Amino acid sequence: MRIEVIKLKEENFFGKVLPHNVVAIVDDGLTLVDTSLPQNLDQLERGLRNIGFSLDDVGFILLTHSHPDHAGNAEIIRRISHAKIIAHKLEDFTPKEFNLNYEDVVRELNVSRNEFESTIKRINEITYEPPRIDVRVNGGEEISGFRIIHVPGHTPGHIALFNGETLITGDALRVDGGIRPPLSFFNWDQGKALKSFNFLISLPFKRLIPYHGELN
Ligand SMILES: [Zn+2]
Ligand SMILES: [Zn+2]
Repeated sequence: MRIEVIKLKEENFFGKVLPHNVVAIVDDGLTLVDTSLPQNLDQLERGLRNIGFSLDDVGFILLTHSHPDHAGNAEIIRRISHAKIIAHKLEDFTPKEFNLNYEDVVRELNVSRNEFESTIKRINEITYEPPRIDVRVNGGEEISGFRIIHVPGHTPGHIALFNGETLITGDALRVDGGIRPPLSFFNWDQGKALKSFNFLISLPFKRLIPYHGELN
């Protein structure tokens, strides 16, 4: 089995460039973990080509959660490849508006009001076809040698993947000068998010792949 990371970027994220780490798990087939934003579809396709695949080859798409920076290309890839989309049974994929306060954001990020407003506007203008989920999971199932773990908090049906060595976390944790819990203003339930974060960092992983953050 090969685990490849396709590194993409989101510009204008509260005054910074936010990394997106889409994971390709290669065994008998090809499984993508998350799909990035619609504007990154060409880059994602290029990333797949660099590791010897095309969008046609995707067999499964596992969505850690419903946010557009993760689910944004799932439906179009499903159309192209007839991949099956997998997500947690509690996750709602209906696109929603983000209503954030500058005061909440500036508590965690060094961002000007202009950068804040331009980011919120950009995020709320992202349009994409919501994915049709083919397979709903509870957590505990296995896919391509990974166990699916339900880690609620960032969203109700957030999932992570662990195979005893590699931990793929989605947004249940992030790396930004160190391993950190997800940004609280984006979390559905902060208490649950911290509990899930503490659980994940207690796992005996050797390789950590957050969706947002540097890899080592
Ligand atoms: Zn998220
Ligand atoms: Zn995200």
